[in-house]
Amino acid sequence: MVIVVCGPGGVGKGTVVARLVAEDPRLWLSRSWTTRAQRPGEPDDAYTYVDRATFERHVAADGFLEHAEFLGNLYGTPWPDPDGERDVVLEIDVQGAQQVLARVPADQVLFILLEPPSPEVQAERLRGRGDPPEQAEKRIEVAQAELAAGRALGAVRIVNDDLDRTVERVQRLIAERRAGGG
Ligand code: 5GP
Repeated sequence: MVIVVCGPGGVGKGTVVARLVAEDPRLWLSRSWTTRAQRPGEPDDAYTYVDRATFERHVAADGFLEHAEFLGNLYGTPWPDPDGERDVVLEIDVQGAQQVLARVPADQVLFILLEPPSPEVQAERLRGRGDPPEQAEKRIEVAQAELAAGRALGAVRIVNDDLDRTVERVQRLIAERRAGGG
């Protein structure tokens, strides 16, 4: 199964995904490639950081399950290679989710859209993240479009107002899918 976690910037995707993976050894977290510069304080292994030419060569070699441009930077998921029976977790944008839905059979995809409890909370999180201010403002704008697109694609929507509850809800969805339901 491929678990796609989408949601606008600042919604807490990274935190939710980190918890899911830490608590379930049967999950395998994909590491994306990006041409974005590493943020101050961002761990070295948050992404595989590459230049545009390297990224484009990988696209040409069909090296990505999906890839997209987000606010001027390229992001892509290398073809997943989980060991054994693990399920793949992707934390990607909605354009990427659309490509995954087109390439992976529907019964093998669990598509989750994390929604912010309020636009104000989300804007504050984005401003506090170390991006240049104009970049943060652009991300706030893009967030609304991201939510609308995710809803239109039929994602399971979860309002991330409480981390523990959000993690539990996703874990329940994963368990249902593994059991052959949902
Ligand atoms: P950020 O620059 O904040 O780390 O990521 C910007 C956006 O790109 C977020 O919505 C994030 O989920 C998304 N993203 C991260 N990795 C990938 C990827 O491999 N593919 C796609 N399509 N989006 C990604």
